[in-house]
Amino acid sequence: MKDNTTTLRTCPLCGAQYGDVPALSRKYPNTHICPECGIREALESIGVPADEQEKIIETIHKSKG
Ligand SMILES: [Zn+2]
Repeated sequence: MKDNTTTLRTCPLCGAQYGDVPALSRKYPNTHICPECGIREALESIGVPADEQEKIIETIHKSKG
């Protein structure tokens, strides 16, 4: 039997519910966050300002269709 139910997780950082593979937070050990927050943390860690982070995330959303 294959379990087809999608487990929705709630991101502790932004509160969003997501069914994708979680990202592991760099800031908070052993904390799973949504893929978007994972991208934000990664960008932040390389010095990308918040408004640029949003633009990049927007671009990723568009490319997903
Ligand atoms: Zn999040």
